[in-house]
Amino acid sequence: MNKRDEILSVLQRCVLCGSCKAECPTYLTEGSESKSPRGRLYLLSCLYSNQAHPSEEIAERIYSCLLCGACEKRCPAGVDIMLALYNGRAFLKGYDPFNRRWGVLLSSAFRHRAMGHRFARLLFPLLKGRLEKAHIIPRGFTFESYRFSHAGDVFIPSRDITKKGRVTLFKGCMVEFVFPHLGEAFVRVANSLGYEVVTLRGEQCCGAPLLGMGLMEEARRLASRNISRFRAIKADTIVSLCPTCVKILSGDYRRLTGEGMNIIDVNTFLIDRLDKGKGISLSALYHDPCHSLYSLGQYDEPRGILKHAGIKLLDYQMGCCGLAGTYALRNREKSMEMLSRNVDVFRSAGADVVVTSCPGCLFQFLKRLEQERVFHTIEIIDEYLHEGHTA
Ligand code: SF4
Ligand code: SF4
Repeated sequence: MNKRDEILSVLQRCVLCGSCKAECPTYLTEGSESKSPRGRLYLLSCLYSNQAHPSEEIAERIYSCLLCGACEKRCPAGVDIMLALYNGRAFLKGYDPFNRRWGVLLSSAFRHRAMGHRFARLLFPLLKGRLEKAHIIPRGFTFESYRFSHAGDVFIPSRDITKKGRVTLFKGCMVEFVFPHLGEAFVRVANSLGYEVVTLRGEQCCGAPLLGMGLMEEARRLASRNISRFRAIKADTIVSLCPTCVKILSGDYRRLTGEGMNIIDVNTFLIDRLDKGKGISLSALYHDPCHSLYSLGQYDEPRGILKHAGIKLLDYQMGCCGLAGTYALRNREKSMEMLSRNVDVFRSAGADVVVTSCPGCLFQFLKRLEQERVFHTIEIIDEYLHEGHTA
């Protein structure tokens, strides 16, 4: 079966029932069938069966998807919607104006991260004002002067703590380059729970930005490198602070290479391991990262962890934060509208802070909330176990 027939066979499983539309953020906000999962799959079927020609208009429908995964869990026919959407983007990448303009630069930056980071830091002072004004970065954002991996590669619990095992931290780009303090918080927490933490200098970007841009072959190459490098260090438990990395490494690597990595997110790591600490008296709204909720199926775990730490959780639901990789760059206004809706929910609830388990969501919330109002779960647990570090 050739590639086209393979994708068509995925698309033909769709019975057009529309169940997938129920939680699709782009369909719910724009109300257009072509911005729904069913509509997008229909457009792709037309393309792959030569009933429509590729165009910028169709590319816009496919690239305006958040790749959040809310549709997939609702599909009774088990259509691999993500696989169809990734392939659709690969098929249409030449028709996407954003890709034509930024594709080469961005894909090089993610494939050669150290160089990309140096380049970004060099240009940052010149572009900071414009990036802030366009809501691409939070106001006052600045790169830390160090990368997380420069802190060291093996972190060992102190002598008076019995060692229970070793975990490997998959840092991901956001922890390594943007929020290294989250990696440090994880090391402190894991160490005091008795776990040695290892990080891998040869770690590559998980590939999410490349998949989002339709660069499947490039993403596949990163996947193969990560799989073989992590296999070589015989990592038993791999943990990530980013649910998107977990989703990509476990689920999408299987789609790309036939082999997924065995990796868990930080909530799964913490849920049965937390010791007693000093309760934190804060009220909070928990923001579910899309990939945590839809791809990892987590709802109770992060809430259980925060309640264990003494946080008073208020029962308000938030939606997608609007970052979604390059979505926030392509659709700046809509992305900020999605964020503002969440911030309105937070303000009307009257909670002290927002907590989330994704560094990307944290970055997005910082565009509207002050630093002392939004935290990653690991910062809360770090504070719970080692008072005075974070909250
Ligand atoms: S991945 Fe999310 S935004 Fe894209 S079609 Fe599915 S539900 Fe809609
Ligand atoms: S729920 Fe599944 S079968 Fe129904 S329209 Fe969506 S993709 Fe097609």
